Amino acid sequence: MTAEPMMAEAGRDFIRDIVQADLDAKKHSVIVTRFPPEPNGYLHIGHAKSIGLNFGIAQEFGGRCNLRFDDTNPTKEEQEFIDSIQADVKWLGYDWGKNLFFASDYFEKLYEWAEGLIRAGLAYVDDQSQEEIRQARGSLTEPGKNSPFRDRSVEENLDLFRRMKAGEFPNGARVLRAKIDMASGNINLRDPVLYRILHAHHPRTGDKWSIYPSYDYAHGQSDAIEGVTHSICTLEFEDHRPLYDWLLDKLPVPSKPHQYEFARLNLTYTLLSKRVLTELVRGGHVAGWDDPRMPTIAGLRRRGVPPAAVREFIKRIGVAKANSVVDVGMLEFCIREVLNQAAQRRMAVLRPLKVVIENYPEGQVEEIEAVNHPEDPAAGTRRVTFGRELYIERDDFMENPSKKFFRLSPGNEVRLRYAYFITCREVVKNAEGEIVELRCTYDPATRGGNAPDGRKVKATMHWLSAAHAKRAEIRLYNPLFTNANPDAANFTADLNPRSLEILTDARVEPDVAAPNPAEAMQFERQGYFVRDKDSTAERPVFNRTIGLRDTFAKEVGKA
Ligand code: ATP
Ligand code: MG
Repeated sequence: MTAEPMMAEAGRDFIRDIVQADLDAKKHSVIVTRFPPEPNGYLHIGHAKSIGLNFGIAQEFGGRCNLRFDDTNPTKEEQEFIDSIQADVKWLGYDWGKNLFFASDYFEKLYEWAEGLIRAGLAYVDDQSQEEIRQARGSLTEPGKNSPFRDRSVEENLDLFRRMKAGEFPNGARVLRAKIDMASGNINLRDPVLYRILHAHHPRTGDKWSIYPSYDYAHGQSDAIEGVTHSICTLEFEDHRPLYDWLLDKLPVPSKPHQYEFARLNLTYTLLSKRVLTELVRGGHVAGWDDPRMPTIAGLRRRGVPPAAVREFIKRIGVAKANSVVDVGMLEFCIREVLNQAAQRRMAVLRPLKVVIENYPEGQVEEIEAVNHPEDPAAGTRRVTFGRELYIERDDFMENPSKKFFRLSPGNEVRLRYAYFITCREVVKNAEGEIVELRCTYDPATRGGNAPDGRKVKATMHWLSAAHAKRAEIRLYNPLFTNANPDAANFTADLNPRSLEILTDARVEPDVAAPNPAEAMQFERQGYFVRDKDSTAERPVFNRTIGLRDTFAKEVGKA
């Protein structure tokens, strides 16, 4: 195999090269891949890499990609996960058409083939406990020991295996093992387990089965039944490939797929282990699988990340055979790039400070035109209401400004976007000494935001009419972990206590609070936002998808 670059040029990588070479050599007439999730959790951004690879290859080479649920462990699998996985693959923009399969569809065939292995003297029922089997397996430097049950007769093995199937024995009493080589240098070939006893209700097969096939036994054979040509999986399965090939070689399978391995996606400040994600949900550390802080597809969607940004990210990171960690900043870059094009602009005040324009007539209002997208005239304009009482961003005022602060301060003039120049005349405080209001004046000659005498101001600020703005809740998100490489074994120690900040007194333009706002919006100077499903008629809720600039390092530690 040729050396793979860390970053593949767009659309090309070592797996696509293999597929192209196989097509050139006429090894296959149609390329068939599959995405094989176990329905024991929601999909995450790492799965998106595998989805993009498998479905992408099928698309690019005119083949097909099966969605196959690896539903061989009923104790951990649920219908909710089967449903969410399908929804997420679709949302990412991929289509399996009619090719939806379940490993459980093949349970009969797999069982029949297992009896075949027993008859050929290639499998046996082992009565040892799980622990005894583990101990006899040996290590990387020591060979394993043969099981005392290894040389049972074919008849005895068949009888016991059938009784395992009939549900005669309790969980863990026996297993079926392949009879390969307990001294093999590859531990996966030391008589791997093919079937275990599990009295569990299965979402699809109900109570029919008391034994379930192992991943290794089910996987390759499912590939073969489906005519998969390129079975693409992550690197941890590289050492399983000899077993994958051994089974295909010994069984009367209808086709001979080939397994290829690539490096799984790892992201800084992120954990992508399903075990950890499950514990985050079960332990109440997040609000659910679709919490916008989660790296799940459902979380990204709820956060307002467009599917095109995920696809762009997958394209950019490429596919390689060496493990690496991708900077989460790369994902954020892709999100900003897509949203900058797609998102209409609106004004929102996250932390309001009241401004009264003293020389603006009481009771007067005017409609001011604002552009919806600075680079896209087709997005049109809208009208925002200006009046005597406004809100500005609390951060946009400083009573005693530092040298580099050019926004509003006593005596200083600034521009209110699309509207007028205003100057701060007085600061009003409450009994606690907190600033509660600013008294300002405006220059009526600056309507539209320019002074006829050509004088300049150093700051342009967003604003909203106090009487017209709609009150909203805004949720700001920071990384879930404070550590660039969180410890999966002890992840709670690395949890960011400031991963969520809720602002309950924000204001937004009335039209973004309407029942059907545009998908994603840029709140000017604040970032990209999307309406959350927790919204009610009285209280719209918005998630900040991402800020406008890369302030990542700064944000990790503070909310
Ligand atoms: P677990 O963590 O329990 O092993 P998993 O993440 O491997 O689960 P599966 O449902 O088995 O979950 O994954 C389906 C497919 O997605 C597999 O082919 C797997 O190799 C691939 N996959 C999983 N995680 C990643 C990742 N981080 N990057 C790329 N592919 C991944
Ligand atoms: Mg897995």
